[in-house]
Amino acid sequence: MTQHTTEQLRAWDKRHVWHPFTQMQDWEQDDAIVITRGEGSWLIDSDGKRYLDGVASMWTNVHGHCRKELNDALKDQVERLEHSTLLGLASEQSIILAQRLAQITPRGLTRFFYSDNGSTAMEVAVKMAFQYQVHRGRPERTRFITFRNAYHGDTLGAVSVGGIDIYHATFKPLMFETIQAAAPYCYRCELGCEGPETCDMLCLGALENIIREEGSTCAGLVIEPLLQGAGGMIVQPPGFLRRVRELCDRYGLLMITDEVATGFGRTGKMFACEHEDVVPDIMALSKGIAAGYLPLAATVATEEVYGAFLGEYAELKTFFHGHTFTGNPLACAVALKSLELFETDRLLEALQPKIQYLAERLAQIADLPHVGNIRHCGMAAGIELVVDKKNRTPYPWEEKTGVKVCLEARKHGVFSRPLGNTVVVFPPLAISMEELKLLMDGLELAIQAVT
Ligand code: PLP
Repeated sequence: MTQHTTEQLRAWDKRHVWHPFTQMQDWEQDDAIVITRGEGSWLIDSDGKRYLDGVASMWTNVHGHCRKELNDALKDQVERLEHSTLLGLASEQSIILAQRLAQITPRGLTRFFYSDNGSTAMEVAVKMAFQYQVHRGRPERTRFITFRNAYHGDTLGAVSVGGIDIYHATFKPLMFETIQAAAPYCYRCELGCEGPETCDMLCLGALENIIREEGSTCAGLVIEPLLQGAGGMIVQPPGFLRRVRELCDRYGLLMITDEVATGFGRTGKMFACEHEDVVPDIMALSKGIAAGYLPLAATVATEEVYGAFLGEYAELKTFFHGHTFTGNPLACAVALKSLELFETDRLLEALQPKIQYLAERLAQIADLPHVGNIRHCGMAAGIELVVDKKNRTPYPWEEKTGVKVCLEARKHGVFSRPLGNTVVVFPPLAISMEELKLLMDGLELAIQAVT
């Protein structure tokens, strides 16, 4: 491949590449870091400078960058078959992957519908839930119960079930109707509570009221289990998810869990629902499924959901949904090798001391004068910065305090990306203890310098 100078690449980037979730007017003012290589937990730019990948390349990377075994699995597969369709054909790797995943996903989730990214996995989940209700004779169940601060992706269906105003409000005229419940964001509880210890989760009572009144018009309830990621790494109190499952059972709602960010070890278990012994009716998976290598997603359903789609051809019970690259063999081959590495590296066991270390470092950071709240779940954390700790006054969002901290962290060789005023910790799961220390040192120094 031709070598280009950093200046050339930057100039073409400014001229031609429209970056996601980015004010391009600002982007064009700055010199972008151009990543050309990856090595373990490190990203390396066109000038050879190394950055710890503090967000696991948008929460996808599991075993590190350019892991030999994954590279080899990909090369091996590309020599045999790069792609064939699942429309009218089956393909070897997609079959084996579904069979393997069925062994590790919560018991009862057995039917895998492939797609390519988290948004479409959720889009599929929502359509599947609605069509399920239609086939079960309940076509009036057209709405969904969702949570404030929820993020399920950027396609219109995924936006409809999302709950972050700054991202979603513009698209309201295009969205279908949902009923939004209060999220258990204990640091800023909209019901006025101080925390789960004192309120016994009032938000659950509020949720039950909504479901009692509106549930019969809803196909399902959509939730990020344990952790609302893009909403600000908002961690749910223990017991919340289990009680949401009970409500769904009591009122006949399908429970759709979005494990796009939490799945594949992020919370310390393979899937977040396992912490609460919850089995959803439909579960969305993506990001870590192919270890951050290739776009792949799956929407997983129970036999009960799947069974509702069976019938005579003319009954039109077919699930009318599909994407060209559904079940792509390259992505499936990497996903299979990734599952193998989870076992051979004993990755989940190896996470435990790192999670413990992260907790210790976060506890120290909590004492900094402008750190208002720390939220931690497995290998994910959010550090919420505030102007005034006592009154929990947020920094005005236009001041971009979170962005400034992340820019400062780059001076210490750390790449992170904030969620508003919340600094995110979300490294590759395979990060070493020494690298995790460097990551936390960099973030701590940056917070101290900026706030
Ligand atoms: N669901 C959750 C919980 C996510 O965090 C994300 C992305 O951050 C998505 C869905 C959307 O995934 P994608 O960006 O692959 O469409």
